Amino acid sequence: MKDIDLIVAGAGIWGCTVARCAAESGRKVLVLERRSVTGGNVRCETDPETGIEVHTYGSHIFHTHLDDVWGFVRRFVDFNGYQHKVLARYKGRTYFLPLGLTLVNKFFGVELTPSELPAFMSDETHKKELFDAFFRGYTSKQWGKPPEEIDPTIIQRVPVRSTYDVNYFNDYNQGIPLSGYNSLFERLLDHPNITVECGREFSLEEHRSSALSGVPVCYSGPIDRLFGYRYGELPWRSLAFEQEKLDMADFQGTSVVNYTEAEVPYTRIHEFKHYHPEDRAVMSCGKTIIMREYPRAWKSGDEPYYPVNNPESQALLERYQAEAAKVKGLVIGGRLGEYRYYDMDQSIGKALEAARAITGR
Ligand code: UDP
Repeated sequence: MKDIDLIVAGAGIWGCTVARCAAESGRKVLVLERRSVTGGNVRCETDPETGIEVHTYGSHIFHTHLDDVWGFVRRFVDFNGYQHKVLARYKGRTYFLPLGLTLVNKFFGVELTPSELPAFMSDETHKKELFDAFFRGYTSKQWGKPPEEIDPTIIQRVPVRSTYDVNYFNDYNQGIPLSGYNSLFERLLDHPNITVECGREFSLEEHRSSALSGVPVCYSGPIDRLFGYRYGELPWRSLAFEQEKLDMADFQGTSVVNYTEAEVPYTRIHEFKHYHPEDRAVMSCGKTIIMREYPRAWKSGDEPYYPVNNPESQALLERYQAEAAKVKGLVIGGRLGEYRYYDMDQSIGKALEAARAITGR
């Protein structure tokens, strides 16, 4: 233990990337993970009976336009050709979600061309009808408040297009690891300079009085937890999941269907077998696994999923960041640590930057 050069606290996507880069630069890295397994919220469980890879914490689709990130992850796993599509069910009808020609033409029963769409959509009535159908109910369920009260950049994550392209993401590079998400973490951490200890939560107090005091720390747990919530808790949205195995080959014909009406209590249903269309055994299996997703307010003990950005949470975050800046050798990152709504590729991009700053390469 004495020759450890870096502690990485949290074995999610940010921590595992930092650990790997530091290990490759010759550092001896100790990874501490609070849970009994690595992978953070990207962790999956493979159902032993059907072979279906269940995304335990909700669907994760790898997509990126960042070339260095895409190059980095593909050193560890190959991706299948999965391209993500999201369907939206509203009043019993199903639409391809990106706001584009497919959705608008079906919803309004018209046959617009790309050049006709902007004028049609500049009509306030059309805009309102679309927004109320696909965003108002879903957003209210997801965030617990009307869309007018949330950060507008959140809704802007959903693409708007004037084409028939129904790909949910604009990123050309997309897919699901052929060998499963867990293998990505196992391979990132599989390096002679890395030691992993699961079931160990990092604490600044313990660290200060331990034999490793003075060893730099890269931390990716919640920043307020690191400081014992001394200024109060940062607000999060959390999720509850209800999983079901069904005696049918296919429940909904696609991986995700959003239920955009406020009256339906869940926001979406995931059906995981559709993430591996290349896996014939899984696809032809007579059973399927679905998961309904229910957003809820976060309270102590719940898993934090989405940071709730508002002036109060920003002010609180800044107080914790000021505390963190006083701790020598401490780098904080990841969705929980930075309190940012990062996608997986953004977390890896940030981790590559952090690792470059630490290793100088
Ligand atoms: N959203 C919506 N209706 C939808 C899908 C998304 O209103 O059918 C809004 C909602 O506010 C959501 C945001 O757009 O939080 C971002 O959606 P995204 O699919 O990126 O959410 P994630 O998959 O990260 O939960």
